[in-house]
Amino acid sequence: MTVATKISEVRQQVKDWKRNGLTVGLVPTMGYLHEGHASLIKTSVEHCDKTVVSVFLNPTQFAPNEDLESYPRDFDNDKKLCEEMGADLVFHPEVSEMYDEDSSTFVEILSDMPKQLCGKTRPIHFRGVCTVVSKLFNIVTPDKAFFGEKDAQQLAIIRKMVKDMSYGIEIIGCPIVRESDGLAKSSRNTYLSDEERKAALCLSKAVNLGKEIIANGEKNAETVISKMKELINNEPLAKIDYVEAVDGVTMNPVKEIKENTLVAMAVYIGKTRLIDNFSVK
Ligand code: AMP
Repeated sequence: MTVATKISEVRQQVKDWKRNGLTVGLVPTMGYLHEGHASLIKTSVEHCDKTVVSVFLNPTQFAPNEDLESYPRDFDNDKKLCEEMGADLVFHPEVSEMYDEDSSTFVEILSDMPKQLCGKTRPIHFRGVCTVVSKLFNIVTPDKAFFGEKDAQQLAIIRKMVKDMSYGIEIIGCPIVRESDGLAKSSRNTYLSDEERKAALCLSKAVNLGKEIIANGEKNAETVISKMKELINNEPLAKIDYVEAVDGVTMNPVKEIKENTLVAMAVYIGKTRLIDNFSVK
């Protein structure tokens, strides 16, 4: 496995692979990798001849009041995990390699899609995500790219961007990987104290409750959401940012639960903002 820090090294490697007729998969990450990321890498290795993992803590998707500075980092461990999972190339650029000081071009979806759900508290987040993912697509030119369903709004936005911009890259969504007690794996779980870690289970419990109510035939989104909120509000350390039912493609709110409805939430546990969701199948 190769580690590249320069865009030109990645371009050269990918060019060599493509000359030999090999397909390329891309797994974009911000590092501090865990089993959720590992499952994306594994899926890419299964689908593509070569797999590139990008490890880049992208500053343009963080607002000044957010956790860019404190975001956990451990590149040695990231490298190890990538190697174990069978990745071929890890792209780990400096910020200055990705953005010139006068960098001023952004990729942004102008519909309401990035303003819903997480966009309400993170208004510049998805512009940063679309911009960095576009850049990674231009650098790596993958055949397929792999994203987690944990970030369901991000996945929907990337699918839309790829369609709107005719990237010709197949986007593959991978299921949420959870801890044995149900908490969705996240690099941010490391912020939680022992007490908060226990409290954080209210997210996955709310997911399970929502699924159960829907499986029992409830179609009214407000009824499902209010029961999920009630469960979360019973946890003193939890503060709801949002719990919402939206269309799984457009991210617009829905009143009736149906196939492909996304039920998503963001909840603060202490100062840590965690997300979770499920799609109605
Ligand atoms: P991040 O490093 O948080 O930007 O995540 C990189 C990719 O890993 C994104 O596509 C995430 O959706 C995905 N991911 C993060 N956590 C999980 C998880 N628990 N299960 C599945 N995918 C995940």
